[in-house]
Amino acid sequence: ESVINRIAAGEIINRPSNALKELLENSLDAGATNISISVKDGGMKLLQIQDNGHGIRTEDLPLVCERFTTSKLKVYEDLSTIQTYGFRGEALASISHVSHLSITTKQADSECAYKANYADGKLVPAKPGGSCEPEPCAGNNGTILVAEDLFYNIPSRKSALKNSRDEYNRIFEVASRYAIHNAGVAFSCRKIGAPKTDLNTLQGATSITNIRQIFGAKIASSLVDIEHSNDHYAFQFKGLISSASHEMHKSVFLLFINHRLVDHTPIKRAVESLYTSVLPKASRPFIYLDLQIKPENVDVNVHPTKREVRFLNEDTIVAAIVDCIHKKLMSTSN
Ligand code: ADP
Ligand code: MG
Repeated sequence: ESVINRIAAGEIINRPSNALKELLENSLDAGATNISISVKDGGMKLLQIQDNGHGIRTEDLPLVCERFTTSKLKVYEDLSTIQTYGFRGEALASISHVSHLSITTKQADSECAYKANYADGKLVPAKPGGSCEPEPCAGNNGTILVAEDLFYNIPSRKSALKNSRDEYNRIFEVASRYAIHNAGVAFSCRKIGAPKTDLNTLQGATSITNIRQIFGAKIASSLVDIEHSNDHYAFQFKGLISSASHEMHKSVFLLFINHRLVDHTPIKRAVESLYTSVLPKASRPFIYLDLQIKPENVDVNVHPTKREVRFLNEDTIVAAIVDCIHKKLMSTSN
């Protein structure tokens, strides 16, 4: 049974950046305004995330790494209306199956923090022979999650991830996109060790400040905003798009649906072909889109960690996005 769980977990958490995405969403769900990420060896040796969110109740610590355990879903019917990022309770369970995981957490009304260690969904002792009980310790309000030796027990997965620089870049990409979308939340991302220790902080008050820091002033200054809402189909979006005045060499899409970073190929294709047909020379788009859809219209049957999502009325919504961008490009290009 444990091997099957491990394989399933390795499908859900398939690389460090994808573990980070789940952990970031948990921190944001917990109301964090400060999130620090530390990474060793591309996240394979160590992936640590510290937040100042509301923390985990001590009595919940034995449960948080069990599959389908979530504090975000009280009754089954909530599945259709749930607003938070997480709703399946699979992320921590999966991470605990494929790494050495510890959680240190303190709620504001608790006198001290508690540290718990996990393997295969369950509490384990810090040292062999010790007690499984979470241990009281000093700590700030909030939660520190440490995942070490990712995929130590899945050699095939581990050997597929050899390039720690590449993995770090993916981690930074995920962190920076969440920083753009959650302007006002302070993010830092620290790479520990070889070839050098690096610290990147992103704490702009607006999305554009963070975009400028990550993508440069040239792109940031070419952006114009779009906004649209449709009551009949219950969706709305806003965003920032590169205008005719700037040519990008590579397209960049930052797409958030209901505050979750996702991929959506039909939107990407439609927008790319719009830019190619409307703008002079082969202009590539920079698109940051914040799309909100009625939660029950998003297909929850697609696995939560698959980046590609599906939703109802796709054609209508894609057409509205293309139309809105088209109008904006036309009005700014002269
Ligand atoms: P989900 O996010 O789908 O509920 P997870 O496996 O990601 O499932 O997390 C399990 C539970 O652990 C969450 O429902 C939440 O109660 C708790 N949790 C995880 N990370 C944090 C955090 N950083 N701060 C507070 N609570 C957390
Ligand atoms: Mg979660």
